[in-house]
Amino acid sequence: MKLRNILFVTTCALLLTGCSSHTQAPCYYVCPDQTPTPVTAPRKQKVAARKPAPLPKTVIALDAGHGGKDFGAQSLDKPTYSEKNFNLTTVRMVETFLKKKNVRTSLIRDDDTFYTLDERVAMTEDAKADLFVSVHYNAAPSRKAQGIEVYYYDDGDSDVRTQESKALAKAVLDRVITATGAKSRGIKHGNYAVIRKNKVPAILVEGGFLSNSEELEKLKDPAYLKKVSWGITQGIEDYLKTKAQ
Ligand SMILES: [Zn+2]
Repeated sequence: MKLRNILFVTTCALLLTGCSSHTQAPCYYVCPDQTPTPVTAPRKQKVAARKPAPLPKTVIALDAGHGGKDFGAQSLDKPTYSEKNFNLTTVRMVETFLKKKNVRTSLIRDDDTFYTLDERVAMTEDAKADLFVSVHYNAAPSRKAQGIEVYYYDDGDSDVRTQESKALAKAVLDRVITATGAKSRGIKHGNYAVIRKNKVPAILVEGGFLSNSEELEKLKDPAYLKKVSWGITQGIEDYLKTKAQ
């Protein structure tokens, strides 16, 4: 092989190696769309040192809203931030926290894949999950809108699932507000398919507004997303403890 060809092959091999190692690295934190992200593992939380509280054997289905072609809500200014990435980062953090508490989890999506709402419900059933928690972030035409709200589905007959969903929504909202200091928009009735069609207690968390510049700045900070995630985790734990009594 001529020297020029050897150099060409060597250069290609190096480029491919670099590309491969980059694309295989998971994007743990949220970054503007289309921007490669340096990946660092989250720092160990103090909670890891605590003795896990005894909790009922439960599987929590964690649903990162949207994904793939469905970007969800988006920031109003450039660079564009998309909800789907915040959702995935948050559920991964919640999963980490719950595992440290010996609570089993099932991620509906663990990458940038699009699943229909019905598929998400089916996956919850396949996982034999006991609770369903969907994580979203918000956007509104008014840039002033901000704060956190948690939805549950009320079919009008106040059945057990509705009551349990409401209790879970309240527990999670209380903890997330305490953890973040964000404005509470309350627990609300929402007619969303994933919380309506699931047979187990189900909630949908809206963790803040990408359309509010002040709140977006917070959401871009992984330390703030950890607070949101920690609040969701504590809320789930509070709820489970009431079931253990
Ligand atoms: Zn959403």
